[in-house]
Amino acid sequence: ATPVAIMVGNGVAAKTGILFKTAASLEQAGKTQIVALDKTGTITTGEMKVTDVIASEESSEKELLRVAYALESKSEHPISKAVTAYAAEKDIPLENTAEFEVLSGNGLQALLGSDRIYGGNLSYIEKIVELISSQNRSFIDKLAREGKTPVLIARNGKLLGIIAVSDVIKEDSPQAISELKNMGIHVVMLTGDNEITASAIAAQAGVDEVVASVKPDGKEAVIKQLMEHGVVTMVGDGINDAPALTSADLGIAIGAGTDVAIDAADVVLMKSSIRDVAAAIRISRKTLRNIH
Ligand code: ADP
Ligand code: MG
Repeated sequence: ATPVAIMVGNGVAAKTGILFKTAASLEQAGKTQIVALDKTGTITTGEMKVTDVIASEESSEKELLRVAYALESKSEHPISKAVTAYAAEKDIPLENTAEFEVLSGNGLQALLGSDRIYGGNLSYIEKIVELISSQNRSFIDKLAREGKTPVLIARNGKLLGIIAVSDVIKEDSPQAISELKNMGIHVVMLTGDNEITASAIAAQAGVDEVVASVKPDGKEAVIKQLMEHGVVTMVGDGINDAPALTSADLGIAIGAGTDVAIDAADVVLMKSSIRDVAAAIRISRKTLRNIH
Protein backbone atom coordinates (compact mmCIF):
# COMPACT_ATOMS: atom_id res chain seq x y z
CA ALA A 1 0.00 0.00 0.00
CA THR A 2 1.38 3.37 -0.93
CA PRO A 3 1.16 5.90 1.89
CA VAL A 4 -0.51 8.37 -0.47
CA ALA A 5 -3.31 5.94 -1.43
CA ILE A 6 -3.91 5.19 2.26
CA MET A 7 -3.99 8.90 3.11
CA VAL A 8 -6.49 9.62 0.33
CA GLY A 9 -8.70 6.68 1.36
CA ASN A 10 -8.62 7.71 4.99
CA GLY A 11 -9.46 11.30 4.12
CA VAL A 12 -12.54 10.28 2.11
CA ALA A 13 -13.61 7.90 4.88
CA ALA A 14 -13.17 10.47 7.65
CA LYS A 15 -15.46 12.92 5.83
CA THR A 16 -18.19 10.25 5.87
CA GLY A 17 -17.57 9.54 9.56
CA ILE A 18 -15.76 6.24 9.03
CA LEU A 19 -12.68 5.85 11.21
CA PHE A 20 -10.17 3.23 10.14
CA LYS A 21 -7.87 2.67 13.11
CA THR A 22 -4.95 1.42 10.98
CA ALA A 23 -3.77 1.37 7.38
CA ALA A 24 -4.14 -2.42 7.50
CA SER A 25 -7.85 -2.14 8.33
CA LEU A 26 -8.39 0.25 5.40
CA GLU A 27 -6.80 -2.36 3.10
CA GLN A 28 -8.69 -5.28 4.67
CA ALA A 29 -12.25 -3.91 4.27
CA GLY A 30 -12.19 -4.21 0.48
CA LYS A 31 -11.44 -7.94 0.67
CA THR A 32 -14.74 -8.64 2.50
CA GLN A 33 -16.80 -11.53 1.09
CA ILE A 34 -19.18 -12.07 4.02
CA VAL A 35 -20.67 -9.39 6.31
CA ALA A 36 -22.03 -10.62 9.65
CA LEU A 37 -24.37 -8.13 11.29
CA ASP A 38 -25.53 -8.23 14.91
CA LYS A 39 -29.32 -7.71 15.10
CA THR A 40 -30.13 -5.63 18.18
CA GLY A 41 -28.58 -2.17 18.06
CA THR A 42 -26.90 -2.76 14.69
CA ILE A 43 -29.70 -3.63 12.22
CA THR A 44 -32.34 -2.38 14.67
CA THR A 45 -32.32 0.75 16.83
CA GLY A 46 -31.94 -1.28 20.03
CA GLU A 47 -34.51 0.88 21.80
CA MET A 48 -36.96 -1.77 22.93
CA LYS A 49 -40.57 -1.09 23.91
CA VAL A 50 -43.32 -3.26 25.40
CA THR A 51 -45.94 -3.96 22.72
CA ASP A 52 -48.21 -6.63 24.26
CA VAL A 53 -49.07 -7.82 27.77
CA ILE A 54 -50.94 -11.14 27.91
CA ALA A 55 -51.79 -12.56 31.34
CA SER A 56 -52.36 -16.31 31.40
CA GLU A 57 -55.78 -17.72 32.34
CA GLU A 58 -55.01 -18.10 36.06
CA SER A 59 -53.28 -14.72 36.46
CA SER A 60 -54.02 -11.03 35.84
CA GLU A 61 -52.24 -8.22 34.01
CA LYS A 62 -51.51 -6.46 37.35
CA GLU A 63 -49.99 -9.57 38.89
CA LEU A 64 -47.99 -10.36 35.77
CA LEU A 65 -46.56 -6.83 35.66
CA ARG A 66 -45.84 -6.78 39.42
CA VAL A 67 -43.69 -9.92 39.17
CA ALA A 68 -42.06 -8.85 35.89
CA TYR A 69 -41.22 -5.42 37.39
CA ALA A 70 -39.62 -6.88 40.53
CA LEU A 71 -37.45 -9.15 38.38
CA GLU A 72 -36.58 -7.01 35.34
CA SER A 73 -35.80 -3.87 37.41
CA LYS A 74 -32.62 -5.69 38.51
CA SER A 75 -31.09 -5.89 35.04
CA GLU A 76 -29.72 -3.39 32.51
CA HIS A 77 -30.58 -5.59 29.51
CA PRO A 78 -32.54 -3.69 26.79
CA ILE A 79 -35.51 -6.06 27.40
CA SER A 80 -35.38 -5.30 31.13
CA LYS A 81 -35.26 -1.57 30.51
CA ALA A 82 -38.36 -1.80 28.31
CA VAL A 83 -40.33 -3.83 30.86
CA THR A 84 -39.20 -1.62 33.75
CA ALA A 85 -40.18 1.60 31.96
CA TYR A 86 -43.57 0.14 31.05
CA ALA A 87 -44.36 -1.05 34.60
CA ALA A 88 -43.25 2.27 36.12
CA GLU A 89 -45.51 4.13 33.69
CA LYS A 90 -48.44 1.89 34.73
CA ASP A 91 -47.77 2.76 38.41
CA ILE A 92 -47.06 -0.86 39.33
CA PRO A 93 -45.52 -1.07 42.84
CA LEU A 94 -41.85 -2.08 42.86
CA GLU A 95 -41.06 -4.94 45.23
CA ASN A 96 -37.70 -6.16 46.49
CA THR A 97 -36.25 -9.47 45.44
CA ALA A 98 -33.42 -11.63 46.78
CA GLU A 99 -31.04 -14.15 45.20
CA PHE A 100 -31.24 -12.39 41.81
CA GLU A 101 -29.50 -14.30 39.05
CA VAL A 102 -28.90 -13.70 35.32
CA LEU A 103 -28.99 -16.68 32.97
CA SER A 104 -27.05 -15.07 30.17
CA GLY A 105 -28.82 -15.30 26.80
CA ASN A 106 -31.90 -16.82 28.41
CA GLY A 107 -33.37 -14.67 31.15
CA LEU A 108 -33.47 -13.93 34.86
CA GLN A 109 -34.58 -15.44 38.14
CA ALA A 110 -34.98 -14.28 41.75
CA LEU A 111 -36.81 -14.84 45.01
CA LEU A 112 -39.85 -12.60 45.68
CA GLY A 113 -40.97 -13.22 49.27
CA SER A 114 -41.03 -17.00 49.36
CA ASP A 115 -41.78 -17.34 45.63
CA ARG A 116 -39.27 -18.21 42.91
CA ILE A 117 -39.84 -15.89 39.95
CA TYR A 118 -38.51 -16.29 36.42
CA GLY A 119 -38.46 -14.28 33.20
CA GLY A 120 -37.02 -15.21 29.84
CA ASN A 121 -37.40 -17.00 26.53
CA LEU A 122 -39.51 -20.07 25.78
CA SER A 123 -36.66 -22.59 25.83
CA TYR A 124 -35.65 -21.42 29.33
CA ILE A 125 -39.15 -21.07 30.88
CA GLU A 126 -40.31 -24.35 29.32
CA LYS A 127 -37.87 -26.15 31.63
CA ILE A 128 -39.34 -24.46 34.72
CA VAL A 129 -43.12 -24.40 34.33
CA GLU A 130 -45.31 -27.49 34.44
CA LEU A 131 -47.36 -26.57 31.40
CA ILE A 132 -47.53 -23.95 28.68
CA SER A 133 -51.06 -24.19 27.27
CA SER A 134 -51.58 -24.50 23.54
CA GLN A 135 -53.31 -21.11 23.63
CA ASN A 136 -50.24 -19.51 25.21
CA ARG A 137 -47.98 -21.28 22.74
CA SER A 138 -49.97 -19.85 19.86
CA PHE A 139 -49.71 -16.33 21.39
CA ILE A 140 -45.93 -16.77 21.67
CA ASP A 141 -45.74 -17.98 18.09
CA LYS A 142 -47.87 -15.11 16.77
CA LEU A 143 -45.80 -12.46 18.61
CA ALA A 144 -42.55 -13.94 17.31
CA ARG A 145 -43.89 -14.02 13.75
CA GLU A 146 -44.56 -10.29 14.12
CA GLY A 147 -40.83 -9.86 14.84
CA LYS A 148 -41.45 -9.25 18.56
CA THR A 149 -39.53 -10.97 21.37
CA PRO A 150 -41.91 -12.79 23.75
CA VAL A 151 -40.73 -12.69 27.38
CA LEU A 152 -42.38 -15.36 29.53
CA ILE A 153 -42.91 -14.61 33.22
CA ALA A 154 -43.36 -17.47 35.69
CA ARG A 155 -43.78 -17.90 39.44
CA ASN A 156 -42.92 -21.19 41.10
CA GLY A 157 -44.12 -23.76 38.54
CA LYS A 158 -46.74 -21.57 36.82
CA LEU A 159 -46.72 -19.28 33.81
CA LEU A 160 -48.13 -15.84 34.74
CA GLY A 161 -48.10 -14.55 31.20
CA ILE A 162 -46.22 -13.12 28.27
CA ILE A 163 -44.81 -9.63 27.73
CA ALA A 164 -43.73 -8.88 24.18
CA VAL A 165 -40.98 -6.37 23.53
CA SER A 166 -39.80 -5.09 20.21
CA ASP A 167 -37.56 -2.56 18.60
CA VAL A 168 -37.62 -1.32 15.04
CA ILE A 169 -35.27 -1.78 12.12
CA LYS A 170 -33.23 1.37 11.47
CA GLU A 171 -34.80 3.19 8.54
CA ASP A 172 -31.85 2.70 6.19
CA SER A 173 -30.90 -0.88 7.16
CA PRO A 174 -32.78 -2.62 4.29
CA GLN A 175 -31.14 -0.32 1.73
CA ALA A 176 -27.72 -0.83 3.29
CA ILE A 177 -28.14 -4.61 3.15
CA SER A 178 -29.28 -4.49 -0.46
CA GLU A 179 -26.22 -2.36 -1.34
CA LEU A 180 -23.95 -4.97 0.23
CA LYS A 181 -25.67 -7.76 -1.69
CA ASN A 182 -25.30 -5.79 -4.94
CA MET A 183 -21.58 -5.57 -4.21
CA GLY A 184 -21.49 -9.39 -4.29
CA ILE A 185 -21.27 -9.77 -0.52
CA HIS A 186 -23.11 -12.49 1.43
CA VAL A 187 -24.99 -10.89 4.36
CA VAL A 188 -25.62 -12.83 7.59
CA MET A 189 -27.55 -11.68 10.68
CA LEU A 190 -26.51 -12.95 14.17
CA THR A 191 -28.75 -12.81 17.22
CA GLY A 192 -29.44 -14.35 20.61
CA ASP A 193 -33.13 -14.00 19.88
CA ASN A 194 -35.26 -17.04 18.94
CA GLU A 195 -35.50 -18.39 15.36
CA ILE A 196 -39.03 -17.17 14.61
CA THR A 197 -38.49 -13.56 15.77
CA ALA A 198 -35.09 -13.52 14.07
CA SER A 199 -36.56 -14.77 10.76
CA ALA A 200 -39.26 -12.08 10.82
CA ILE A 201 -36.65 -9.33 11.31
CA ALA A 202 -34.32 -10.95 8.76
CA ALA A 203 -37.09 -10.92 6.14
CA GLN A 204 -37.76 -7.21 6.78
CA ALA A 205 -34.04 -6.43 6.60
CA GLY A 206 -33.41 -8.61 3.52
CA VAL A 207 -30.35 -10.54 4.74
CA ASP A 208 -29.22 -13.74 2.95
CA GLU A 209 -28.85 -15.86 6.08
CA VAL A 210 -29.83 -15.84 9.78
CA VAL A 211 -28.08 -17.45 12.74
CA ALA A 212 -30.47 -17.26 15.74
CA SER A 213 -30.39 -18.39 19.40
CA VAL A 214 -26.67 -17.61 19.52
CA LYS A 215 -25.58 -17.61 23.16
CA PRO A 216 -23.62 -14.51 24.33
CA ASP A 217 -20.32 -16.37 24.14
CA GLY A 218 -21.23 -18.06 20.84
CA LYS A 219 -20.91 -15.22 18.32
CA GLU A 220 -17.15 -15.73 18.09
CA ALA A 221 -17.62 -19.42 17.19
CA VAL A 222 -20.12 -18.48 14.46
CA ILE A 223 -17.59 -15.99 13.01
CA LYS A 224 -14.89 -18.69 12.95
CA GLN A 225 -17.27 -21.00 11.06
CA LEU A 226 -18.11 -18.26 8.55
CA MET A 227 -14.37 -17.61 8.05
CA GLU A 228 -14.07 -21.12 6.60
CA HIS A 229 -16.26 -19.88 3.72
CA GLY A 230 -14.67 -16.49 3.02
CA VAL A 231 -13.27 -13.22 4.32
CA VAL A 232 -15.54 -12.04 7.15
CA THR A 233 -16.32 -8.54 8.40
CA MET A 234 -18.30 -8.49 11.65
CA VAL A 235 -20.43 -5.46 12.57
CA GLY A 236 -21.69 -4.99 16.13
CA ASP A 237 -22.40 -2.61 18.98
CA GLY A 238 -22.57 -4.61 22.21
CA ILE A 239 -20.25 -5.99 24.88
CA ASN A 240 -21.27 -9.47 23.63
CA ASP A 241 -19.99 -8.60 20.18
CA ALA A 242 -16.42 -7.78 21.28
CA PRO A 243 -14.89 -11.29 20.93
CA ALA A 244 -16.54 -11.70 17.50
CA LEU A 245 -15.27 -8.26 16.40
CA THR A 246 -11.73 -9.30 17.40
CA SER A 247 -11.90 -12.75 15.77
CA ALA A 248 -13.28 -11.62 12.42
CA ASP A 249 -10.94 -10.62 9.56
CA LEU A 250 -12.28 -7.11 10.21
CA GLY A 251 -14.38 -5.76 13.10
CA ILE A 252 -16.62 -2.72 12.60
CA ALA A 253 -18.26 -1.06 15.62
CA ILE A 254 -21.29 1.18 15.60
CA GLY A 255 -20.15 4.52 17.07
CA ALA A 256 -23.16 4.76 19.38
CA GLY A 257 -22.33 1.29 20.75
CA THR A 258 -20.55 0.29 23.94
CA ASP A 259 -16.92 1.29 24.60
CA VAL A 260 -15.97 -2.40 24.75
CA ALA A 261 -17.16 -2.94 21.17
CA ILE A 262 -15.47 0.28 19.96
CA ASP A 263 -12.18 -0.81 21.56
CA ALA A 264 -12.39 -4.30 20.02
CA ALA A 265 -13.11 -3.00 16.49
CA ASP A 266 -10.74 -2.05 13.64
CA VAL A 267 -13.19 0.46 12.20
CA VAL A 268 -15.72 2.77 13.91
CA LEU A 269 -18.84 4.20 12.22
CA MET A 270 -19.64 7.62 13.72
CA LYS A 271 -23.12 7.85 12.18
CA SER A 272 -24.25 4.41 13.42
CA SER A 273 -25.78 3.60 10.04
CA ILE A 274 -24.88 0.28 8.41
CA ARG A 275 -24.89 2.05 5.02
CA ASP A 276 -21.39 3.11 6.06
CA VAL A 277 -20.36 -0.56 6.09
CA ALA A 278 -20.90 -0.59 2.31
CA ALA A 279 -19.19 2.80 2.07
CA ALA A 280 -16.16 1.57 4.03
CA ILE A 281 -15.80 -1.47 1.75
CA ARG A 282 -16.16 0.70 -1.36
CA ILE A 283 -13.51 3.19 -0.18
CA SER A 284 -11.15 0.34 0.59
CA ARG A 285 -11.74 -1.31 -2.80
CA LYS A 286 -10.85 2.00 -4.50
CA THR A 287 -7.76 2.37 -2.34
CA LEU A 288 -6.63 -1.15 -3.25
CA ARG A 289 -7.19 -0.41 -6.94
CA ASN A 290 -4.99 2.68 -6.67
CA ILE A 291 -2.22 0.55 -5.24
CA HIS A 292 -2.15 -2.31 -7.70
P1 ADP B 1 -29.42 -10.30 21.86
O1 ADP B 1 -28.45 -11.03 20.98
O2 ADP B 1 -30.67 -9.95 21.11
O3 ADP B 1 -28.78 -9.11 22.53
P2 ADP B 1 -29.32 -11.86 24.39
O4 ADP B 1 -28.24 -12.86 24.12
O5 ADP B 1 -29.02 -10.77 25.33
O6 ADP B 1 -29.94 -11.32 23.00
O7 ADP B 1 -30.60 -12.66 24.92
C1 ADP B 1 -31.17 -13.72 24.17
C2 ADP B 1 -32.59 -13.96 24.59
O8 ADP B 1 -32.66 -14.31 26.00
C3 ADP B 1 -33.49 -12.73 24.45
O9 ADP B 1 -34.00 -12.60 23.16
C4 ADP B 1 -34.54 -13.04 25.50
O10 ADP B 1 -35.50 -13.93 24.98
C5 ADP B 1 -33.79 -13.72 26.61
N1 ADP B 1 -33.35 -12.74 27.62
C6 ADP B 1 -32.08 -12.30 27.79
N2 ADP B 1 -32.02 -11.40 28.79
C7 ADP B 1 -33.28 -11.23 29.26
C8 ADP B 1 -33.87 -10.42 30.27
N3 ADP B 1 -33.16 -9.56 31.01
N4 ADP B 1 -35.20 -10.53 30.45
C9 ADP B 1 -35.93 -11.37 29.71
N5 ADP B 1 -35.43 -12.15 28.74
C10 ADP B 1 -34.13 -12.11 28.50
MG1 MG C 1 -26.41 -5.61 19.72
